Amino acid sequence: MSSALHLAPHAGPSTRFRSFTPRDLDGLLQRMSLTPADRLAVRAVTTVLPFRTNTYVVDQLIDWTAVPDDPIFRLTFPQSGMLPAPDLRRMADLLARDAPKGEVQRTAHEIRMRLNPHPSGQLDANVPVHEGRRLTGLQHKYPETVLIFPRQGQTCHAYCTYCFRWPQFVGESDLRIATDDIATTSSYLRAHPEVSSTLITGGDPLVMSTDVLRRYVEPLLEIDTVRSVRIGSKALAFWPYRFTTDRDADDLLRLFDKVVASGRHLALMAHFTHPQELRPPVVREAMRRVRCTGAVIRCQGPLVAGINDSAEAWAELWEETTTLGAVPYYQFVERDTGPQGYFGVPLVRGHQIFRDAYARVSGLARTVRGPVMSAMPGKVCVDGVADIAGERVFVLHLIQARDPDLVDRPFFAAYDEGATWFTDLKPAFGASRFLPGLEVG
Ligand SMILES: *Cc1c(COP(=O)(O)O)cnc(C)c1O
Ligand code: SF4
Repeated sequence: MSSALHLAPHAGPSTRFRSFTPRDLDGLLQRMSLTPADRLAVRAVTTVLPFRTNTYVVDQLIDWTAVPDDPIFRLTFPQSGMLPAPDLRRMADLLARDAPKGEVQRTAHEIRMRLNPHPSGQLDANVPVHEGRRLTGLQHKYPETVLIFPRQGQTCHAYCTYCFRWPQFVGESDLRIATDDIATTSSYLRAHPEVSSTLITGGDPLVMSTDVLRRYVEPLLEIDTVRSVRIGSKALAFWPYRFTTDRDADDLLRLFDKVVASGRHLALMAHFTHPQELRPPVVREAMRRVRCTGAVIRCQGPLVAGINDSAEAWAELWEETTTLGAVPYYQFVERDTGPQGYFGVPLVRGHQIFRDAYARVSGLARTVRGPVMSAMPGKVCVDGVADIAGERVFVLHLIQARDPDLVDRPFFAAYDEGATWFTDLKPAFGASRFLPGLEVG
C-alpha cells in the first residue's frame, strides 16, 4: 500500500470523502515516473474528457507498484490512447504553447463532438410523455421498468475512464436528463401499472445524502404496482464508507430496511469492474451490512480493454462476488461513444472471454448474462459464433426489447472479426433484416 502523499499523517485510511480533480493531477502523478511528454498527454486528455478520483481509490484500491498497468489506475486515470492520436497531438500542442483558454475550450468541444457524445439518440428515444409533457428525468424503454435520474445524483464518487455518460460530466450534455419532480414521477407510475420495477440511477444516486435519496425512494413505496426498487451505484467499489462510517450510513441502511419491510425487492445494482475492487476489508463489511437489510446486491460492469479483458479477471470477479453473497447480473459491451476506440473489445473476443470465464465458475455464479449490448432495439446478447449452412455467423438474442415480441428469439448476424457494436452487424444469409420487426442497427 502506498503512503498517503496528499494527506496529513493519520493512523489508518481516511474515511472522510475527498475527491481529486484535474487540478490535483500533477501532484498525484508524482507517484510515478513520467516524462514531460507523458504529463502533457495526460493533461491533454483531461482537457477533453472528465477526470475525478478520491482518497479511497488512490490510497486503497490502486496498487502504485503496478502503475501504469494497474487496472484501477486505468479505471480512473486518463491515458494518452483515450484520444485519437491526431486530436491528442493537437491538444498537446495548444497546451505546450499556452494557447488562450478560449481556443483550448473550442478545440476540446470540437474533439468531443466527434466522439459520438449521444449514441443513437438513446436518451431522447426513451423519454416518456405524460399529460402532454416530456418527463426528461425518466426513461421508459422496456414496458416493466422505469429509470429515474435524480437531479442531485448526476455525479459519481470517481469517474470511470470508459464512462458512457462522460458528456454530462464535462458539461456537454444538451439533454437535461434529471428530475426532482417526484410528484410527477409518482403520477406517471400510477398511470402505468405495467411498470413493476423502478431503477434509480445517475451518475450515482448514492452520492446523494440519505435524506435526499429518501425523497425519491419513499414515494415509490406508496405505489402498489411497483414491486421492486433498484439503485444503480458504484459506491461499493469507489466509496464503500457510504455504507459503513459515513455520517448517514446507518440512515441509508434503515431506508433499505424500510423498502424491504414494504414487501418489495430491493436490489443494489453494483457496478464492479475488476476483482481488485473487492479486496479491501471495508468493501466486504459494506456488502455484509447491505445484505443484512435484506437487499440483494446484483453485480454488473462492462468488458474493457486493458482493464478487465481476461477470463481470469471475470471468473475471479464472479466467483468472489458470489462468495460474498452477491449475484452476477450483466456483463456489458463497451458502448459506441467517447474513448470506445481505446477501451472497446471486438465482439468475437468479448464472447470468448465471457465463455472462458463462465465455464470456470460455479453454477451459482452463472446467473450472469453477456456480453450484452444496450443498443437501440434493446439488450442484445451475443450467444456465440456458429457455422450454419456453410456460413460463419454470430448467434444473438434480445434479453430486453422495446417490442416485447422480439424477446428471446434467436437471430443471426454475418461473422465479423472487427465488429465492436450492434450497428457494425449485418444480417446473415443475405437477409435484409435480423427478424421481422428487427432492422439493421
Ligand atoms: C438495462 C435497462 C433496463 C433494465 O433491464 P433488466 O433486464 O430488467 O435489468 C431498463 N431500462 C433500460 C433503458 C435499460 O438499459
Ligand atoms: S460509475 Fe457509472 S456513471 Fe459514474 S463514471 Fe463510472 S460508468 Fe460513469
